[in-house]
Amino acid sequence: MGDLKNCPQCGRLFVKGIREQCDACFREEEQQYDKVYRYIRRSENRNATIVDVSEATAVSESKIIYFIHQGRIRVKGYPNFTYPCDGCQNPINDGRLCQTCKDKLKSELSIEDFIKRKQEEALPSYHTDEN
Ligand SMILES: [Zn+2]
Ligand SMILES: [Zn+2]
Repeated sequence: MGDLKNCPQCGRLFVKGIREQCDACFREEEQQYDKVYRYIRRSENRNATIVDVSEATAVSESKIIYFIHQGRIRVKGYPNFTYPCDGCQNPINDGRLCQTCKDKLKSELSIEDFIKRKQEEALPSYHTDEN
């Protein structure tokens, strides 16, 4: 007997196993990955932007970035394919962070802590009174 869990993507209950999402969402994600992978590996699509890839494959930009963050899709060498750095939102083409953020990260904590801190900085602050 496994633990029942709500799928974070569709909300359906499923038995928690090695995956964090239900089988239906997992299969859908694999199909999306396959479409993106097949599209970008074709030489005539070398100059595609993330918008082009998203439109051609019907896979959302955030999902494509998710695959890139997982290291499953690599767009280094695709001159027009950029997506925002997780730290500063500047366009990048490899990994999760731009060089500037990588340099800063060296003196900080883990990549997760760094990104969390950056996202908190980006939120509007309601603490106008510093004292
Ligand atoms: Zn699901
Ligand atoms: Zn950055």
